[in-house]
Amino acid sequence: MSEEKSLNFLEEIIENDIKSGLHNGRVHTRFPPEPNGYLHIGHASSICLNFGLAKKYNGKCNLRFDDTNPSTEEAEYVNSIKSDIEWLGFQWHKELYTSDYFEQLHDYAVTLIKKGLAYVDDSTAEQMASMKGTLNTPGTDSPFRSRSIEENLTLFAEMRAGKYKDGEKTLRAKIDMAHPNLLLRDPLMYRIKHEHHHRSGDKWCIYPMYDFAHGQSDSIEEVTHSICTLEFIHHRPLYNWFIEKLEIFPSKQYEFARRNLTYTVMSKRKLLQLVNDKHVNGWNDPRMPTISGMRRRGYPAEAIRNFADTIGVAKRENIVDLGLLEFCVREHLNKVTNRVMAVLDPIKLVLTNYPDGQTEVFEAENNPEDPASGSREIPFEKELWIERDDFMEEAPKKYFRLAPGKMVRLKSAYIIQCDSFEKDADGNVTTVYCTYLPESRSGNDTSGLKVKGTIHWVSVAHAHTAEARLYDRLFSVSDPANEDGDFKDYINPDSLRTISTIYIEPELSKAKNGDKVQFMRNGYFCVDSDSTPDKLIFNRTVTLRDNWAKEQKKA
Ligand code: ATP
Ligand code: MG
Repeated sequence: MSEEKSLNFLEEIIENDIKSGLHNGRVHTRFPPEPNGYLHIGHASSICLNFGLAKKYNGKCNLRFDDTNPSTEEAEYVNSIKSDIEWLGFQWHKELYTSDYFEQLHDYAVTLIKKGLAYVDDSTAEQMASMKGTLNTPGTDSPFRSRSIEENLTLFAEMRAGKYKDGEKTLRAKIDMAHPNLLLRDPLMYRIKHEHHHRSGDKWCIYPMYDFAHGQSDSIEEVTHSICTLEFIHHRPLYNWFIEKLEIFPSKQYEFARRNLTYTVMSKRKLLQLVNDKHVNGWNDPRMPTISGMRRRGYPAEAIRNFADTIGVAKRENIVDLGLLEFCVREHLNKVTNRVMAVLDPIKLVLTNYPDGQTEVFEAENNPEDPASGSREIPFEKELWIERDDFMEEAPKKYFRLAPGKMVRLKSAYIIQCDSFEKDADGNVTTVYCTYLPESRSGNDTSGLKVKGTIHWVSVAHAHTAEARLYDRLFSVSDPANEDGDFKDYINPDSLRTISTIYIEPELSKAKNGDKVQFMRNGYFCVDSDSTPDKLIFNRTVTLRDNWAKEQKKA
């Protein structure tokens, strides 16, 4: 993009901080996923933002696994998150884990107890809730709030040593039970959970709450700009309170709006349900809004980065049109993919005046957008496969493909005219008979004829077969999470259509897992990882714009 983009609000903050010499102009961000699922396109926005800002301002970005909750986190997720970030094109400064700070966080808690700013509470969760108060009424102090520092130190040490059962005691910050911000009414810092942790094993049975872990981890890493999503805006005073009372590195929190996308859901909890209930075939199903699903479907990393860049950052939540993401995908694939011929729904075309047994080889440009892409050879014979759609028994005036008496050009080959056709017992067209014009050969056309339509084809004798998987939106409504009832009631039953046999030009049989091509007139496709040496499977990444549908609308 040539035009100069104005700064977004985070860039403005950072540039002001650099100007004022804050932290000697150092910029340090972090991306802090909880390893409880695969990353989705919303996370991609956050990744592009955090890593992008660090890159732009010569700073650093840490990858920090926010693994304070032992029950849901798994090593499988850690690995997938790392490979997704790398695939997106980013490299972290350091790979870190909040769980590595457990000892330090524990010591911070002890510091606050010693300062009289934290206490052990025996109240149950229900009792605490009932003492919390409301927005309009102050809360009430817990009967355990006035425990002595010594008693708190002893009890907290016993909590750590495993003397108490889950939920029997908690550690709370001693702030103000009448605070107008409910999050500052003596928030929890630690809870007891006798659970195995994916990294620290059974070393701990007390685990820090998000609010007591996140800001302190930022501070330990000397993160300068801690960017999170808008729902944490009310946590910011608490973030600052802990840092101030502990007198540690003053990281600062900034919030931006979560990114949502139409026709899908974005929370890991909901995506996990789709996986567990087998509505999709795993986290990397090409219909999933996960980074791994999009990668498998054939979305290029560049397109996802462009998408994140185009939508930018906002302060208010909104939902972005899936069409914009698809636009970015097409825009990139248009530049980088070879045009190839594949017939998805075949009927046979016979050139009655073409010599039996003759083969010609046509040279076809691989990608007209990229002169360096070269060309390849395509064999041509008397019998060809063409798309069923490219023939009509009775065609309307604006139909520029085959119909009795009509002419089209066969891509890279000859102009042909349709003479007759044949149907099977069910009335389906099986074969179209045409004559070809030898003087109309592509590149050396002396026919003087101008035809409006060009169709693709594959030689019957040379065709290879493959499977095609055509995807549609996963949901049939634009915002399934905000509809009445269960979001799963809105799953699109036709989100996957499999065509077991398509015909592809011979050159394409060499394609490998992950290769991306444009099937001329049919869309962009990518070789799926389910492919085997004897069976290629192509995912349709995205359709091309449908000119025929547009023409029909105009007509
Ligand atoms: P989810 O609700 O999907 O589980 P999360 O916020 O719990 O998301 P985390 O692993 O905690 O997921 O998120 C890591 C980072 O990604 C956080 O900084 C979070 O704010 C950001 N993030 C998550 N979802 C989105 C989104 N839809 N748009 C932008 N950023 C997001
Ligand atoms: Mg989270």
